Amino acid sequence: MSYRAWFQCINPACGKTFPLNSVVYQCTGCHSLLEVQHDLNALKARTPAQWKELFERRYKSNEWPYGSGVWGKKEWVLPEIAAENVVSLYEGGTNLFWAERFGKVIGVSDLWIKLCGNTHSGSFKDLGMTVLVSQVKQMISEGAPIKAVACASTGDTSAALATYCAAAGIPSIVLLPRGKISLAQLIQPVSNAALVLYLDTDFDGCMKLVQEITRDETLYLANSMNSLRVEGQKTVGIEIVQQFDWEVPDVMIIPGGNLGNVSALGKGLSMMKDLGVISKLPRIVVAQAERANPLYRSYLRNFETFEPIQAQKTLASAIQIGNPVSVEKAIRTLKQFNGIVEQATEEELADAAALGDRTGMFNCPHTGVALAVLMKLLKSGKVDRSEKVVVISTAHGLKFVEMKVKYHQKELDFPCRYANEPIELPARLDAVKEALKQALADQKRFEL
Ligand SMILES: *Cc1c(COP(=O)(O)O)cnc(C)c1O
Ligand SMILES: [Zn+2]
Repeated sequence: MSYRAWFQCINPACGKTFPLNSVVYQCTGCHSLLEVQHDLNALKARTPAQWKELFERRYKSNEWPYGSGVWGKKEWVLPEIAAENVVSLYEGGTNLFWAERFGKVIGVSDLWIKLCGNTHSGSFKDLGMTVLVSQVKQMISEGAPIKAVACASTGDTSAALATYCAAAGIPSIVLLPRGKISLAQLIQPVSNAALVLYLDTDFDGCMKLVQEITRDETLYLANSMNSLRVEGQKTVGIEIVQQFDWEVPDVMIIPGGNLGNVSALGKGLSMMKDLGVISKLPRIVVAQAERANPLYRSYLRNFETFEPIQAQKTLASAIQIGNPVSVEKAIRTLKQFNGIVEQATEEELADAAALGDRTGMFNCPHTGVALAVLMKLLKSGKVDRSEKVVVISTAHGLKFVEMKVKYHQKELDFPCRYANEPIELPARLDAVKEALKQALADQKRFEL
């Protein structure tokens, strides 16, 4: 059976199509975003049971490249790529764990965390980047004059781009907002030999510049307005359902900035439904930082209008975006998935991340936004306490230790109620014994 995919304009009145090996990021006719479309009739030649069986057989196997969470679903992602052009670092297949203790504290018993940060470069961005860089490798092998791949980033896209390009031997260029990313995020592309341009602006400023420089077709654009990224990222929803033995949870909560990831989540789930692999859809919740909340504001107006804003500095730096590229796709997704948008303040997100950490997690601030939003939705009753809820944790906490250090040193603009400072002592038994005595007498110390 031959499976096919192509780019298609998302504007239903237009619908222009382009082959996947053309250098195009927006519709040349109406300037809307593009999305990858698949030949669903060809895919329907396999029954839902056969797809499930195939995906299960490949899942985390060592059969290259199908053990990857993305390439295990190759026919649904990028069916025509030649095996020798796949650039995979065994992404996906991340743990989905029952957050029993945290759930008990906040009053929901069927709570699960999908830890997308437990992957090669430490964030879910690997899922999309493996697809984009593989397609670039294929285009280069066909003779396309691509000299380098470029992106603007809040820190995780650039880390993923740099590592996949380095693995493939393709030059990468990253534009980063100076002082607005973590040290770990800065050193990742530096280590992976990217050309790192560190600019005095914010993400939206970097995004404008990268769109300018990639007008030159020899520099290929790797931001999520390039819908190849979305094709890889859409596997996260499919993988979650697969991990639940094909049972669909009631609610999925995902932090949103540029809004490519929520669009991807919806796309994967809707493809499963179209192909009969699932029969219902979950509710999708986008969690935004109050300081970078253009989608939340639009949600309050029933999505009748959308206004970009100037994003303000937030601890959730990877979602400090005021003019999200994928907003149209995200709104379409939220309408289809009975969606909710909720926001969290700096204090709410930091406390939620820290509270989660006290139950054994190690949250990045964006996951903190999602956890805080869940707590608010449980309080308001918009999410019922009996529902099966998945929080999509987008990055590894170790990429964001500066924020955690500040929190535990109480250097933030709020009380930091779960701060836990190390006790500095002389290395003497009496001093250690005294400290233990005091700490163990404090009943509350190890509680939540
Ligand atoms: C990129 C990113 C997000 C936001 O994803 P979008 O597709 O931009 O909405 C959230 N969390 C982390 C850690 C990220 O790196
Ligand atoms: Zn169009």
